[in-house]
Amino acid sequence: MSAAPLLRQVFGFDGFRPGQEEIVEAVAAGRDVLAIMPTGGGKSLCYQLPALMRDGVTVVISPLIALIRDQVRALREAGVAAGALTSGNTEEETAAVFEGLRAGELKLLYMAPERLASSGTLPMLRRAGVTAIAVDEAHCVSQWGHDFRPDYLRIGELRATLNVPLAAFTATADVETRGEIMRRLFPEAAPLSFLRGFDRPNIHLAFAPKDGPRRQILDFARARDGQSGIVYCGTRAKTETLAQALLDAGLPAVAYHGGMEAGPRREVEGRFQREDGLIVVATVAFGMGIDKPDIRWVAHADLPRSIEAYYQEIGRAGRDGGPAETMTLYGQEDIRLRRSQIDEGQAPLERKTADHARLNALLGLAEAATCRRQYLLGYFGEEAGPCGHCDICNDPPETFDGTEPVRKALSAVLRTGETYGAGHIIDVLIGNATEKVTQRGHDRLPTFGCGKDIGKLAWQAILRQMLGRDLLRPDPERHGGLVITEAAHPVLRGEIPVILRRDLIAKARPAPVVRA
Ligand code: ADP
Ligand code: ZN
Repeated sequence: MSAAPLLRQVFGFDGFRPGQEEIVEAVAAGRDVLAIMPTGGGKSLCYQLPALMRDGVTVVISPLIALIRDQVRALREAGVAAGALTSGNTEEETAAVFEGLRAGELKLLYMAPERLASSGTLPMLRRAGVTAIAVDEAHCVSQWGHDFRPDYLRIGELRATLNVPLAAFTATADVETRGEIMRRLFPEAAPLSFLRGFDRPNIHLAFAPKDGPRRQILDFARARDGQSGIVYCGTRAKTETLAQALLDAGLPAVAYHGGMEAGPRREVEGRFQREDGLIVVATVAFGMGIDKPDIRWVAHADLPRSIEAYYQEIGRAGRDGGPAETMTLYGQEDIRLRRSQIDEGQAPLERKTADHARLNALLGLAEAATCRRQYLLGYFGEEAGPCGHCDICNDPPETFDGTEPVRKALSAVLRTGETYGAGHIIDVLIGNATEKVTQRGHDRLPTFGCGKDIGKLAWQAILRQMLGRDLLRPDPERHGGLVITEAAHPVLRGEIPVILRRDLIAKARPAPVVRA
């Protein structure tokens, strides 16, 4: 049977989701496929439906037994001959699967990757008339991610033994992971690749520099009173103080973080699911397993860790397709904190470099001067036009050529020996002869006072935009002193201009004082 009637009769859907149809056709035609779709995009259909269109059995490798069981149950209820070989099987279940294989009736055979390690599995599959392999959560083959599953490396052997087409699915889109999936699962020839469906057009995107952040969050939440929302915070302590501030303002709020006992956590999850209009103020510990379709807004009180984390977190809003709003706050302190978290982590250098790049991508989004959705989708590899549904499209910011002040700041950083933080650099630029400045003789530098025309607050915003564009970086080996990056060299040489946003400068305020 062809795809459309099966889609209706077996799965009960009226149409395909974005991207599904092309993938289904390619898999059904026996092509090797790598499909990257966001979580909830409908990946399973993309191998289940073709399995019903083809002769023989499709083997599905999936990492979670609970997920396998859910899928097999749902398929059986829809009348599909599906079975699983997992460690959780009863003897009868296993016997029924083998019987289905012997009779040539089974269409989908799920198994966890560990099963591939047992010596009988490959010969059994070779006899069973397997005509295709599907790999769910294919990023588990990558040592880059935190989901690495060594047994996924056996899929290469499975493939070589059975010599059938392979379709791999994942929601993880970063280039390193993609490259590793390619090398491990498709060593001989590149598969047909699909990347679709990352756009969530109902979600409005907005960023704002921190400017009285508590008030900014309160205002945002108050304007949405009665709607369920999540406020993500960078620390556990902040979830509690901010939840209290919202309560004090008369809004129903509750804190949630990984340091809480399991009981109270379950209780918050339950309340959020049941109650309308509750605000959960949480760390990133809140999210996995939250399946509430009508979350109307997500705010970030602090900058997320990476562009991937940002996408995941805002993506919890508006699952029902209804209007949803987001607002992400960021400040110089966030940038410094996120950079030092990466630098001080235990990851190998290669990984740290990649993490800095992911943070840079998010900062680029935060300081963007053109459509945010276009930028975000572009990062995931999808092309799009301006969206008309982000703060930039709604109200395009004024920009100006900031090359000259940026070069002055870079020169002040260089001449002071790349050892000082933003405060000292700004003192030098505006000609503020503090004790530290005079002691070090920085009042005798040619750059001393060369930026007096720009005020201190504006300089802070310029330096933040420079940090955001990775022209400057705090160096952990110099106690966070700013150093200039590779990207700053062409600017210093006058080869490329730097366009800055004026509104971010107008709104600039001193960064909040953070006590250790
Ligand atoms: P994921 O990509 O996260 O693996 P799933 O395959 O679990 O996503 O699909 C997510 C949800 O979307 C499921 O509830 C599924 O039934 C539903 N779904 C998938 N395809 C369609 C479709 N074409 N029309 C409507 N709902 C769909
Ligand atoms: Zn836009």
